[in-house]
Amino acid sequence: MLINHLRRGRRPTVPGRLAIVATVIGLVLTGCTAVSGADETSPSSAGPASRSGRSSGSGSAQGGPPSAADGVLPDHTSAYDTDLPGVAKLDPALREAVQRAETAMTKDGITMQVTTGWRSKKYQEELMEKAIRKYGSKKNAKEYVADPDESHHVTGHAVDIGPTDADDWLNRHGSRYGLCQTLSNEIWHFELATTPGGTCPPMTTPKK
Ligand SMILES: [Zn+2]
Repeated sequence: MLINHLRRGRRPTVPGRLAIVATVIGLVLTGCTAVSGADETSPSSAGPASRSGRSSGSGSAQGGPPSAADGVLPDHTSAYDTDLPGVAKLDPALREAVQRAETAMTKDGITMQVTTGWRSKKYQEELMEKAIRKYGSKKNAKEYVADPDESHHVTGHAVDIGPTDADDWLNRHGSRYGLCQTLSNEIWHFELATTPGGTCPPMTTPKK
């Protein structure tokens, strides 16, 4: 419809424009749906995919592996590395909570790193395609990798933290900062899920 209007050099009619606006709103709402039971196989699997598989979504047609601009983080990334898109594009409240936790655990002698923070949709699509190749079907893959439309990393509302002693520390003390492990099968995945000093909600367990 829009293409026809453009081709004929006509401006969309008012009902036409309303339809376009409604479509855009619909797309935005769909993109915000964010309930996931699975996220990714492990922090170490979050590296760039090497094969350029065909994607059903938009944004990966240009090929090439995900880059720093997609949220790929180098080893030893701190929550204070706000020059990196994967940290910079986190929800500010989440980033601040992780920074406070990092400062506190450093005093306890633990060096934490952000393995993954924000991820672009393209990056999440790559992870999903990789998981489909590994586990044979999208249904199986979704036990390990969130759908790009559902991942809380894509919206900037989740962080993956390593190494294991940092995860243990966060599981014991993270709620002081509002940080909770939210997926029962991912000890490294944290979200802002309670008020500082509050109680973490029950974790989500992926359906088998
Ligand atoms: Zn995660």
